[in-house]
Amino acid sequence: MKKQLTLLALCLILVSAINAQTAKFKNCATVEVQQHREALNPGYLAAVRKAFDNAKAAIGHTGASRGLNVGDTIIKIRTVFHVVYTSAADSLDEDVIQSQIEVLNQDYRRKNSDTINTRADFVPLAGDAGIEFFLATEDPDGNPTNGIVYSEGTPTGFFGTFDPFSDNVKDPAQGVGCWPSDKYLNIWVCDLGFFGVLGYAYPPVDLPNWPAQSTIDSFRQGVVLDYRAVGSRNPDPIAPEADGGRSATHEIGHYLGLRHIWGDDQGKCTANGGEDDGIGDTPESGDASQQTCNLNINSCTDTTAIDYSDMVENFMDYSDDACLNMFTKGQIEFMRSVLLTYRPGIAEYEIVQGPQTPNGLAADQNITVLSVYPNPANDMISVATKFGKSVSGSVTLMDIMGKTINSVELSNTTAERISFDVSNLAVGVYTVKVKANEQTITRRVVKQ
Ligand SMILES: [Zn+2]
Repeated sequence: MKKQLTLLALCLILVSAINAQTAKFKNCATVEVQQHREALNPGYLAAVRKAFDNAKAAIGHTGASRGLNVGDTIIKIRTVFHVVYTSAADSLDEDVIQSQIEVLNQDYRRKNSDTINTRADFVPLAGDAGIEFFLATEDPDGNPTNGIVYSEGTPTGFFGTFDPFSDNVKDPAQGVGCWPSDKYLNIWVCDLGFFGVLGYAYPPVDLPNWPAQSTIDSFRQGVVLDYRAVGSRNPDPIAPEADGGRSATHEIGHYLGLRHIWGDDQGKCTANGGEDDGIGDTPESGDASQQTCNLNINSCTDTTAIDYSDMVENFMDYSDDACLNMFTKGQIEFMRSVLLTYRPGIAEYEIVQGPQTPNGLAADQNITVLSVYPNPANDMISVATKFGKSVSGSVTLMDIMGKTINSVELSNTTAERISFDVSNLAVGVYTVKVKANEQTITRRVVKQ
């Protein structure tokens, strides 16, 4: 059995390598890597699918009733780049990494200058994901860092470069191990030269027989990029079609659970038994766009009011970097759901919406002070609140699905300090809700 699996894996590697060599530059190996993992570990794809379904199911619960809508909160992802070099060429300057962060912060906030190229039909579908990226300032030991770590790599594979299938860049003996993947987005930068792919990523995994939020491959979680596909100021871009830093935009989309918009079904429409990407507002498309910006492709008939063209502008297609400029609101809602359910610890959260006074409280209301600390918390979360008048109400700790974990009643009080024991809670995002007379304020807290 083991020999059969090894043979199958080898076949997959060879077929994929041939595909990669003949394919266009805008190519990612995420799907092939997943197929390879399934061959090694049957059930893997079902586990990825379960995570996808769970994140979709959580969308309604993370919506309006919870105050977690897109726009309420900017989610800021703590990022580390592991530059694993084998020569001077692939030891990228910090400026190139910085240019990558800039591209991500434009694309995930819809601040990219080429949003003007989004076609009129698609403008109402496009959105600001409210997601930003920053280079980590503390390493896992609490030491200061600039979020860029250089390591010399020694890939021992047959082809002399790192490869997507053995994932050897994450092997400390050949590359470098990850920082805790529940606290950082790990991005490995290395030479994937022989395979000709620009990158690959690991989507969330949730095996039914494992505890929630545990994964069989936590050390693999993250994104791998070929060094020639990183940033918008790369001195040696792999091709003009991929010099805009959008391989990272695409791969992080996978890391946050998104699929290719054509459903990876080799040209089929759903009417002919093909797969969709599971997102409602991405028009159906049969296959990847072929390294062009052909605005006239309409490979499948949509069942919506408008029979849209293929959305070649979508970051999850294979078009040239210069053609890509949008995520849809459906993709955005899904990525945010994944962040809050599967990757809550990698981000910091900044509430930006609502009528607020300088201390972040709703104006003309009776709660004058509300502080929730520490945040993130390990053992205890304290809620300190002061009211402008005597109030009755409650302070409630809830999980991400809105289920009450603990609640304390308030009765004719003007100030309260309440602590919740969170030591036994799973790592993740929770909400503290303070209700005082008719006013309700919620705060996001992270258990780490
Ligand atoms: Zn991809």
